[in-house]
Amino acid sequence: MRARSLPILIVFFIGLIVLFVWLRGPQPQPPASPAPAVSVSLSDLAPIPNWLEINDYQSTISRPAFLRQMDGVFTVSPAWRQFFQVNDDHVLVTTAPGETFRLRFAPEGLESAPPRFWRKPSQLGPAAPEKPLEGVKIAIDPGHIGGRWAKMEERWFQIAGSQPVQEGDMTLAVAKLLKPQLEAMGATVTLVREQTEPVTPIRPEMLREEADKNNGDGTLAQRAERLFYRTAEIRARAKIVNETIKPDIVLCLHFNADAWGNPNAPTLVPADHFHMILNGAYTDDEVALGDQRHELLLKMLQGIHDEEVALATSAASAFVERTAMPPYIYTAASGRARNVDANPYLWARNLLANRIYHCPVLYYEPYVMNSEEDHARIQAGDYDGLREVAGKRRPSIFREYADCVALGLERYYRAQRPAR
Ligand SMILES: [Zn+2]
Repeated sequence: MRARSLPILIVFFIGLIVLFVWLRGPQPQPPASPAPAVSVSLSDLAPIPNWLEINDYQSTISRPAFLRQMDGVFTVSPAWRQFFQVNDDHVLVTTAPGETFRLRFAPEGLESAPPRFWRKPSQLGPAAPEKPLEGVKIAIDPGHIGGRWAKMEERWFQIAGSQPVQEGDMTLAVAKLLKPQLEAMGATVTLVREQTEPVTPIRPEMLREEADKNNGDGTLAQRAERLFYRTAEIRARAKIVNETIKPDIVLCLHFNADAWGNPNAPTLVPADHFHMILNGAYTDDEVALGDQRHELLLKMLQGIHDEEVALATSAASAFVERTAMPPYIYTAASGRARNVDANPYLWARNLLANRIYHCPVLYYEPYVMNSEEDHARIQAGDYDGLREVAGKRRPSIFREYADCVALGLERYYRAQRPAR
C-alpha cells in the first residue's frame, strides 16, 4: 500500500464509525448506578437500599391492612404520608427525591404469601410433647459488648468496694445459660457473639471521617466510638443473623437501668421494672430516611409485627408471673414509643437492633441494674438453686432471667403447635 492512501483510509474508517453510531440511534441508558441517586438521606453507615427486592412483596398486603399498620404501629404521626402516596390499589413510596417505588395492594382476602426466611409455628408442624421447640431456629443476641469495651459503650458502673456492673458481660452470661435450656426443648440455637469482643472488624479509629459528617454530642473521637459500638457493631450482627443464621426468631437480651449519674459513684434507686420492645413507632425524622422506609416496609410486608406481638405477649407474661416486676411506662413526651395491644409491658420502638434483623425480634428489657435489689443480686453472681439475697430466698438473677425466657417460649410454641 502506498503511504499516500493512509490519510484517506483513516478518514474512511472514521466516517464508517460515525455512520454506525448514527444508525444505531439513541441507546438505552445503562441503569443509573446507585451513587448519583443518593441525594436521599440515609441513616449512619446504612447501605443504599435495594428497592427492587420489595418487588417480591407485590400484592402481599391489602390497603386497609397497610393503613392500619402504618398509623397504628409503625409511625407516630401522619407525617409519613409525605413519603408514601396512598392510592386506591397501590402506594408510591419515595425512594429518592423525585423517584418512587410502586407497591401494589392486594384485594382483601387475596394477599399472596410474602417471601421470608423465618417460619411461624404453624409452618413448623407438630412437635413431640417434650420438645415444643423442635426445629425452631433461634439466634440469641447478647446486648452490647462488655469486657474491656464496657466503659466505652457506657454500659459500666461500679460502687466503691464492689464488683463493676457490665451489661455486655451479664447478657452473655444469660445467653450461655439459656442456650442449653432451649436446645433441650429441641431448638437449634446460635449465639450472635460468644465473647466480650465486638463482632465487627471495624474499630473507632476507622470511623473518624464518617463521624466528622454528623454533628453529634461530644468530641470527634467520642462520636466515632458511638458509631462503632452502636451502629457498626449492630450492622455486623444483623449481617450474621440475616445472611448466615436466618433464624425464626432473634432474642435480644438486655438489662435495663435508670440514670446512674457518675459511673464511679452511681446512684442506686429503689425502683424495679420490666418491658419488651417491638419494632415500630418510627419518628418523623426516621421516616424521612430512605433506608428506614425500606426496612419499615420489609418488616410490615413480612407480617413481622403480628408475630412479635404474639411471641412477646407470652414472653412478658412468663416474666411477670415469675418476677412480679411492674411495667416500665414511657411518657407521651418521649415521642419515641407507643404502647402495643394495650399490654403495659409491650412497647413499640424503632431500634437499630429490632429494625434490621429480618425476622421477629424479642427484645427483653428486664431488671434495673442500679436498683438496690438488682444490684445486690448482680453482686451475688450466678449460683445454683436458691439463696438469701437482699432479704429474700431466690435464684441467681442470671438463671431467673434465662428461666423466664425459656418458659415464655416453651408456652408459646406448645400452644401454637399440635403435639406429635
Ligand atoms: Zn442494653
